[in-house]
Amino acid sequence: MVSIRKELSEHGLIPKKRLGQHFLIDQNILNKIIRTAQIEKEDVVLEIGPGLGEMTIGLAKKAKKLITVEIDPKLVEILKKKVMDYPNVEVVKGDILKVDFDKLLSQEKNPVKVVANLPYQISTPLLFRFIELRHLFSTLTLMLQKEVGERMVAPPGGKEYGPLSIFVQLVSDPTIRFFVKPPAFFPPPKVESAVIHMAWKENPMVEVKDEEWFKKIVRGCFSYRRKTLINALKHTDLSLPPDMELRIKEIGIDHRRRPETLSIQEFVNLAEILKS
Ligand code: SAH
Repeated sequence: MVSIRKELSEHGLIPKKRLGQHFLIDQNILNKIIRTAQIEKEDVVLEIGPGLGEMTIGLAKKAKKLITVEIDPKLVEILKKKVMDYPNVEVVKGDILKVDFDKLLSQEKNPVKVVANLPYQISTPLLFRFIELRHLFSTLTLMLQKEVGERMVAPPGGKEYGPLSIFVQLVSDPTIRFFVKPPAFFPPPKVESAVIHMAWKENPMVEVKDEEWFKKIVRGCFSYRRKTLINALKHTDLSLPPDMELRIKEIGIDHRRRPETLSIQEFVNLAEILKS
């Protein structure tokens, strides 16, 4: 592999912290990510933040079509030259948080597979966008900060379990495939990373009738995770029914439990009966 360091200096580039620019330099990890994404000949793939394209060519060789979205104009310029021999690659300059996905993917008949070594600053908001627009995507293979990955897959009961675990697991089956240590990147990040694979549940685990309200209840409870459920709810600024203690009892939840011990199903039931 061409040395990333050399390539950057040839172009007079300094990795931008603000854009989370940590380039993967470990070929073994790159191959493992591509394998994890399980790309088939007919697949359309969306790569976010291709950077200098270390993963891009590998993906382009497997997919029918590869769309990459990169925010840094200088990297876009370099990448465009690199993929000249790959007519199935489309390099888009843009901010993935602002991209109009319906427009970007308007040509695609089937949901696309997402692969990304993400800038860590944007991973959570982006994850929520993917969940919201999940009909457009089939699977997600994402390099994330290790702690974020652990929160995504956490079961009830532990300190990692929280709103992110619940919103992710409500609609998908996330799995941590492997961890990546800082020296696999240039420059090395301060934290460890994890590669996560997410596939949507065929049937949502439970039906959430009012998603906004459900999110408010979950977030509200976890703002006070050290309190009992009933006290946490009392401290939120949500408008809750005066007889909520009774209502909670009626669905078989002990109001003295801590929020983090509730299963996703229990949160769904809770949100439903707390609607006045
Ligand atoms: N995938 C490459 C680069 C990873 S670094 C590799 O593995 O080596 C993260 C990349 O995301 C950088 O190229 C950075 O410029 C890009 N990026 C940062 N914020 C972005 C955004 N909002 N939208 C699209 N790309 C972004």
